[in-house]
Amino acid sequence: MEIGKTKIIIQPIEEIQENLLRFLKEGLEGIFSFDNLKAEVWEKILSLRDSEYNRSRGQYKGSKVLERLLNLHYIKKTYRILGVMDKDLYSRNLNFIFGIATSPRSLSSKRSGAALISITRLRQEFYRKPKNKILFQKRVLKEGVHELGHTFGLGHCNNYCIMTFSNHLGETDEKPLEFCKSCSKKLKTYFQNI
Ligand SMILES: [Zn+2]
Ligand SMILES: [Zn+2]
Repeated sequence: MEIGKTKIIIQPIEEIQENLLRFLKEGLEGIFSFDNLKAEVWEKILSLRDSEYNRSRGQYKGSKVLERLLNLHYIKKTYRILGVMDKDLYSRNLNFIFGIATSPRSLSSKRSGAALISITRLRQEFYRKPKNKILFQKRVLKEGVHELGHTFGLGHCNNYCIMTFSNHLGETDEKPLEFCKSCSKKLKTYFQNI
């Protein structure tokens, strides 16, 4: 597979439904169309490791899985990599997280970005509610765009914006599937500088 200079590689981590990955690819291309970013689903699945799993919590440690994605990102020289997994994630200070990402070391760094999302808590069924495919897909795309936003140097935002921090799913549903004016401007500056 040829890795484009501005291609977001979507890395399935263990088994992820193909149609969800395709939806994510098309959604990301739509959102980042202003800079003509493309997305591609990586055909080789990444397996989780026992060392990334916390047995007493029954969850995977976000930073450890992210670290492996970041290694892959350097080895394969990807532009951006977004891992998608269907196992619950936690971080040191939080009971669970929807996703995690690296921030660019400097604005001029082209190879600075790995992001990871877990889709486990984005399903209505997780909360014993009836299945809602459209809502689920939208949440997956929102979390993917949000984490990738971090890899493009964006922090959390208090505007009506995709970069709002989600502490719970209600906040994910409330935030729009777009960047606010201020974040869009920062993104444009970022892309102009690379
Ligand atoms: Zn965030
Ligand atoms: Zn914003």
